[in-house]
Amino acid sequence: MSATRETAQAIVVGAGPAGAATAWALASQGLDVIVIDKAHFPREKPCAEYLSPQGSRILDAMGVLTDVEQAGAAQLAGMRVRSPDGGIIHGEFAASHGFSGFRDRGLALRRRHLDPILQRAATRAGASIREGTSVESLIMVGDAVRGVRVRTSGGSTELRAPLVVGADGLRSGVARRLDLAARLPWPRRVAFVAHFRDVSDIGAHGEMHVETDGYVGLADVGHGETNVAIVVPKHLARDAAGDAAGFMMRWIARHPQLAPRFTNATRVSTVGVTGPFASHARRGYASGAALVGDAADFFDPFTGEGIYAALRGGELLGSFAADAIRATSERNALRALKAYDAARVAEFRNKWLVERVIGAAVSSPMLMNHAARVLGSRRDLADILIGVTGDFVPASRVLKPSFLLHFLNPRTWRSNRRAA
Ligand SMILES: Cc1cc2nc3c(=O)[nH]c(=O)nc-3n(C[C@H](O)[C@H](O)[C@H](O)COP(=O)(O)OP(=O)(O)OC[C@H]3O[C@@H](n4cnc5c(N)ncnc54)[C@H](O)[C@@H]3O)c2cc1C
Repeated sequence: MSATRETAQAIVVGAGPAGAATAWALASQGLDVIVIDKAHFPREKPCAEYLSPQGSRILDAMGVLTDVEQAGAAQLAGMRVRSPDGGIIHGEFAASHGFSGFRDRGLALRRRHLDPILQRAATRAGASIREGTSVESLIMVGDAVRGVRVRTSGGSTELRAPLVVGADGLRSGVARRLDLAARLPWPRRVAFVAHFRDVSDIGAHGEMHVETDGYVGLADVGHGETNVAIVVPKHLARDAAGDAAGFMMRWIARHPQLAPRFTNATRVSTVGVTGPFASHARRGYASGAALVGDAADFFDPFTGEGIYAALRGGELLGSFAADAIRATSERNALRALKAYDAARVAEFRNKWLVERVIGAAVSSPMLMNHAARVLGSRRDLADILIGVTGDFVPASRVLKPSFLLHFLNPRTWRSNRRAA
């Protein structure tokens, strides 16, 4: 069968949150956008499925906040983090630190429900979404990307456009083909994610339990279901050996505060396995192409703001990419994409730093226990940190010496050692 050819002003590869938000932002400016995804929706995506309070601002801008709420999203009031020795950090999104999110609550909804709602925002704005369509290669003219060759059940098609957006998630093929992808050496973790009914004592707070053999997140995701996401160092994931469900239950059984809560629980989904995750693009653009969402960077699920970063990245890219598409010269187009990348780094730089500090604490039981003792006795500090993870308190707030000194104070260390 001979290849057919279509043209558009932007081709977005990936119809997850990053692709949907980018397509919505571009189509809303009157641009002709085609989105392709190899999956058929609704599909499962291994994810803890929590969306930060500030994520609601972008849902609202996209015109789908009410849709997400009406789809039965759970409302999360804050987070409870348990350290390996049982210390508890409790933070609320609604607090008295002077910052507030677009909403006082986070939302949590299965991705099989959320992603199609986000895609609806893109199609309402005028984008065309093609499911079951996989990228085979990039079309290059000189050094510039000028489209993609795609395969569908009907054969091959060439989609040509002045801009190709890689919103194709972790292990982005677009980033790899442009030689932009870089793996981070640390952390090397693997996640096992499934949904359960009848887990006991699930309340209005997301829970993270950090253990010496990994961590687990538990959260209500609406419809009477609990998302259970266990993340372990890669070498421990080998024990799963083809039995991911058994691995999850054995992991839970090893932890006495968790096991009784699963006595009457029933798993209602398959187990999604993914990892290692940590990766980032050396740069978020190339001539005729840009990266967004996980394709551009992802560190670790612990702080769980990948959906917000994907939506915000799409929103940001939309405002620069329109200039690139309409540019009258290659030089001006590249300048617009470079400006996007600079804006992306400026937006997320501090957050990346906070994620890495938290990632280090999660890797070390001693640090995590210490952090839980400091933050467990200072609810005001815990609220600030939870607000940073909720995307409405600036990350710079917890990077200030006045915040960090609470963790270094020798008196705190001494009293903590006595408590230990
Ligand atoms: C265990 C775990 C827990 C997490 N928990 C949370 C959480 O609670 N909250 C949160 O905000 N974030 C969480 N995240 C992160 C979040 O899942 C991601 O950051 C988010 O999905 C990124 O969106 P995206 O659109 O960039 O990528 P994705 O959602 O991965 O979408 C990429 C899309 O590209 C498509 N695609 C890939 N290759 C091709 C191709 N060649 N051709 C066509 N289509 C292609 C895929 O089918 C997919 O639909 C978690 C991640 C993990 C691993």
